[in-house]
Amino acid sequence: MQNTNFLQNISPERVIRGESAWEEGKSLIQSICKKPLFLGRSHSTSKLRSMLEKDLINIGINIVHAELEYDCCDVDLNRIYQLCKDCSCDGIIASGGGKVLDAGKLIANNLNLPCITVPLSASTCAGWTALANIYSKKGAFIKDQTLNNCPKLLIFDYSLVRKAPNRLLASGIADALAKWYEASLSNAGSNDALVQQAVQMARVLRDQLLIDGFNALQNPYSSSWIRVAESCSLTAGLIGGVGGAKCRTAAAHAVHNGLTQLDFTQKALHGELVGFGILVQLRIEEKLLGNQLALQAKNQLITLLKELNLPTNLKSLGINLTTKKELEMACIFSCRDDSDIHNLPFKVDKETLMEAILETDRIEIEKISPRGTIFNC
Ligand SMILES: [Zn+2]
Repeated sequence: MQNTNFLQNISPERVIRGESAWEEGKSLIQSICKKPLFLGRSHSTSKLRSMLEKDLINIGINIVHAELEYDCCDVDLNRIYQLCKDCSCDGIIASGGGKVLDAGKLIANNLNLPCITVPLSASTCAGWTALANIYSKKGAFIKDQTLNNCPKLLIFDYSLVRKAPNRLLASGIADALAKWYEASLSNAGSNDALVQQAVQMARVLRDQLLIDGFNALQNPYSSSWIRVAESCSLTAGLIGGVGGAKCRTAAAHAVHNGLTQLDFTQKALHGELVGFGILVQLRIEEKLLGNQLALQAKNQLITLLKELNLPTNLKSLGINLTTKKELEMACIFSCRDDSDIHNLPFKVDKETLMEAILETDRIEIEKISPRGTIFNC
């Protein structure tokens, strides 16, 4: 008999999704807060964000404008906490990519304010979840923090999300694919029905991304695009909500966390690093368990990542290793005692991880299998 209680944050209180979700969502914002902090970051979305701010001002909402300077990082967060307090903000609207959404949720959580997320890309499921990742000023992963609640309201407006470059959607696909590879492996022996069902949802999500991913990138006005964008931003978050902490991350994200400790020649996106992390995880399975299905899955995944123009080796991620010591440092980070790599059903030490990363970096499949193949493992 199971005698442990689980407190789960399954989903935002309300989700509005569609071609003009923002239009309808505005009136919902009015019922939540009167003087919210409107948080964003990237220069490329600044015009879009000022348009959203103007829309809110026009319906009588008093906006306090704030921008992140770095990734979701304590230096920024402390500055914005103070701004919120000084201006007596009564809510947070976070509009942008995953790091902006995480920062908005974290500020709202720590000041006990309602949070509204308005993703401007489908690069992560951060608009949905009750989790936030904290980074250093340089972008090195420090820790993740579980929040008290999922956002109060998630506005997923297709016409806003569609404006993001394809690279962000491709990165979101890799991040969402990780749900299946990580959750299925770390919960292989679970007898918890919700976890089992969440893992099956992750399998369906993976299949949908395999079928629709390529087409979504080619045709942003297709139904494939909607299915893929929502899979990355909404379903991936729901799976983590239903399955709980056990259904989130394993080696692929631990590899991401370790690699962010290195210097980059150009900045890699979260999902780009996670995609490479899935390949490393499959390589570990192949090495430690002699799992041939993992080898097959890895080859097919490389094919997909290449089709989506996603990096499959360290160099294309912007990582130029000059010494092995650097990689060792990243692997020590990935294998810390509290790392999710230990959610795997077998032990992985830093030596095994280093070998797997270097082997993954070297291996490129020679034969590209025809696209659209779905593999079973
Ligand atoms: Zn992720």
